[in-house]
Amino acid sequence: MNDKILVVEDEKDIADLLEVYLSNEGYFVLKAENGSDAFNYIKNEDVSLVILDIMLPDTDGLTLCRQIREKYLFPVIMLTARNSDMDKINGLSMGADDYMTKPFNPLEVVARVKTQLRRYKRYNTAEVETIPEYDKNGLYVCKDTHKCELYGKELSLTPIEFDILWYLCERKGIVVSSEELFENVWKEKYFSNSNNTVMAHIARLREKLGDEPRKPKFVKTVWGVGYKIEG
Ligand code: CA
Repeated sequence: MNDKILVVEDEKDIADLLEVYLSNEGYFVLKAENGSDAFNYIKNEDVSLVILDIMLPDTDGLTLCRQIREKYLFPVIMLTARNSDMDKINGLSMGADDYMTKPFNPLEVVARVKTQLRRYKRYNTAEVETIPEYDKNGLYVCKDTHKCELYGKELSLTPIEFDILWYLCERKGIVVSSEELFENVWKEKYFSNSNNTVMAHIARLREKLGDEPRKPKFVKTVWGVGYKIEG
């Protein structure tokens, strides 16, 4: 998905210029002319970065930046009209990540947006990766809450069914053998008849997922190897 950049600037020419350059780079640009519109976007859209002018009609960029920082971590780049060191120092102490002085070169703004987003994402990756959930094709599974939803409706799975499903979700895209599944879910040694146990549970799980045994959408059979869920 394209990153959404919110440009908060009442000078239309500047906002439009930034929109052109940022759109060219594939960003989705939202424009707000004042602080209250800006906050509406921030609340309702999944904003990745804000470019914030200091001089706004209903508030000033420094106050807005401080308010953003109370709740959000995404990068903020300040635009300042005057070449005043005070603005820069204030901006950074209010939690801005970078600043640019007008008149600016739009390409430089784009470069700084890229840098900030890269930094921000690197910083957040560790956090994102630890959320143990699977969300694809209408199937949502969360390990922590033990929740399984199909097209938004909660399914009631037995603990074993949930463990099978989660084991496959955790290894999405990878084929898991019947033996591996059995030993990790049941935590017992695998014998030749264990395969029947696995098959019976897979069948019940598929039933709950509305999966047709011959053409399952979620829990797929890889003949002679095992099972997998699409990654
Ligand atoms: Ca302005």
